[in-house]
Amino acid sequence: MKRILVIEDEKNLSRFIELELKYEGYDVGLAFDGRDGLEQALEEEWDIILLDLMLPGLNGLEVCRRIRQVKSIPILMITARDSVMDRVSGLDSGADDYIVKPFAIEELLARLRAVFRRAIKEETVVTQTTFHFRDITVHKESRQVFKLEEEIEVTKREYDLLLAFLENKNIVLTREVLLNKVWGYDTEVETNVVDVYVRYLRNKIDSPDEESYIQTVRGTGYVMRT
Ligand code: CA
Repeated sequence: MKRILVIEDEKNLSRFIELELKYEGYDVGLAFDGRDGLEQALEEEWDIILLDLMLPGLNGLEVCRRIRQVKSIPILMITARDSVMDRVSGLDSGADDYIVKPFAIEELLARLRAVFRRAIKEETVVTQTTFHFRDITVHKESRQVFKLEEEIEVTKREYDLLLAFLENKNIVLTREVLLNKVWGYDTEVETNVVDVYVRYLRNKIDSPDEESYIQTVRGTGYVMRT
């Protein structure tokens, strides 16, 4: 069953959307403000997020940007004002599509189906098994890491960490996000473990005469920048 998170502060509208989507066979979660919406978006797995632009707490654009820093899940923006500015900034902040209020439920369902179709297409295209970055190559199927022609021995943890960076190139990953991705969500490990493992990994893949593969973003986390 596809799971849809609806982040919309107009309760009548979101209850209505919830009823209709459930009737269509979707599983629906509701959030009535930006902060709660962001939290649910990051903590649970969703197939699509329906995101109102004007929200209390944290506005829709900001919610969208913050989700995008961590997840590539499809986002459909709901905007009340049919202004070009809103649409452009919505798409700029990473939304996949938008729908203008008031809308007929049939239109919403059609947009959702379109977003799902695109997402499936992209998935089949980007099921990547080999990653390259500078001199590093990672073969996902055999879990092997090469620097130029030479194989580098890495532990499972180091491998998972490297893959997290390679799959999210140019995205700054916070220690918390890395902990979730590599150690799992329920881990009780302290976030400074991430620093330790980044150091291990750097020792294996970096060379003293070149810039580190993994850059530190002070006070935030790490990034692999192309
Ligand atoms: Ca609103």
